[in-house]
Amino acid sequence: MLLESTRRESPAVSFRDALLGGLAPDGGLYLPTAWPVVALDELRAWRGLSFPDLAVRLAGRLLGDELPGQVIDRLVREALDFPVPARELLPGRFVLELFHGPTLAFKDFGARFLARFFSHLLGERDQHATILVATSGDTGSAVAQGFSGVPRVQVMVLYPAGKVSPFQEAQMATLGGNVTAVRVSGTFDDCQRLVKAAFLDEGLSGLHLASANSITIGRLLPQTFYYVAGYLAVAREIGEEVIFAVPTGNVGNLTAGVIAARLGVPVSRFVAATNVNRVLPDYLESGVYRARPSVATLSNAMDVGDPSNFARLLELHGGSLDRLRRSLYSTAISEEETRAAIRSVYARTRYVVDPHTAVAWAAADRFLTEVAAGSAGPDGSHPGSPGRPEHPVVTLATAHPAKFDAVIREELGFAPALPPAYAGWQARTLAAVDLSRADYGDFRRLLVSRC
Ligand SMILES: *Cc1c(COP(=O)(O)O)cnc(C)c1O
Repeated sequence: MLLESTRRESPAVSFRDALLGGLAPDGGLYLPTAWPVVALDELRAWRGLSFPDLAVRLAGRLLGDELPGQVIDRLVREALDFPVPARELLPGRFVLELFHGPTLAFKDFGARFLARFFSHLLGERDQHATILVATSGDTGSAVAQGFSGVPRVQVMVLYPAGKVSPFQEAQMATLGGNVTAVRVSGTFDDCQRLVKAAFLDEGLSGLHLASANSITIGRLLPQTFYYVAGYLAVAREIGEEVIFAVPTGNVGNLTAGVIAARLGVPVSRFVAATNVNRVLPDYLESGVYRARPSVATLSNAMDVGDPSNFARLLELHGGSLDRLRRSLYSTAISEEETRAAIRSVYARTRYVVDPHTAVAWAAADRFLTEVAAGSAGPDGSHPGSPGRPEHPVVTLATAHPAKFDAVIREELGFAPALPPAYAGWQARTLAAVDLSRADYGDFRRLLVSRC
């Protein structure tokens, strides 16, 4: 696989170099120069495969020219060893549950795949590296869990004291081993400033610092796999188009969906759902990209004011606003509408959605009333049974509702239970290192002593 920077000012590189390098030297994001295409006959033949079996085939298709089949097979099976169920909540309305990984959110797909491939590629070169992440919660826990125990890699995760949930903190700060959790007296922005300063510090080049943020191609590729799995689970016949509703922040998940469509998944439209951090819908409407400070919401993993994968999304549409408008329907959902969606999904289906999934569900509702209604028959009905949308609609469920028990309790009057495997997590001992002021000198000493 040959990859090119979205800015086209640095040379094309292999998957190996793109994965180990992160950002392209010209500051752009790597995208493959060509995509393999999966034919409908193949999709038909893949129906019924388990998720790991399907993921192995897709990874082989993408990376088979660079890595031996057995290596891909082993790394993918180690990384993606959990199910991806689709549930039909209403006729033609599905949720695709992406929260069965260890941190109960979809970032496990990217983080675990990246960790295994990163470690393998370091091994080929007999190198070691240090992954450095600043987190407001979800990314750090997925990365810490993903890299925990993985050879050749030290991980340091910085999080703001008192500003991540106790469950997220437990997932970062109880692992030990190659994972150091640093609890910073400060804000998420302070954590990010320390990490950025370390990346620019030439005196630290011996540590081989690397990032695991959502711009790495190693997180993006595995996210395409669950779109294929979701398609195979919901299409009545292969070839039928479906709609994916995606809760969107840094636009990584959505970009992976667009790539899946490029690989051959028949997609009618993407519903790109944001919370009130509405940079994307505003861009589609006005044609002017305007980054702005992020606003805190219930769907906090989507509180993004300058989506880092936007350049990729645009490039995948040839830089054309018109093409982007044809491929995406994007809309912003308010806090009150998010709460209302949690209540109404439960009232209609007895299914509990987390706030991120609720944003996407509400956006899909809006799409079906505003846009898809235009294609209804003369009597207002759609082909198929009454109330069934013309195309299957798959809402990506990106987090387990138990991670957001406070808001669920407010809206539904009860707290959803964590899966049984998580019983007793409160009892685990936190082993975070405290950084009592967000000072770069202090942080640098810690980094050098630990890595
Ligand atoms: C990160 C995250 C999102 C947003 O995904 P992007 O790829 O950043 O658009 C949505 N939901 C949850 C639960 C997340 O953790």
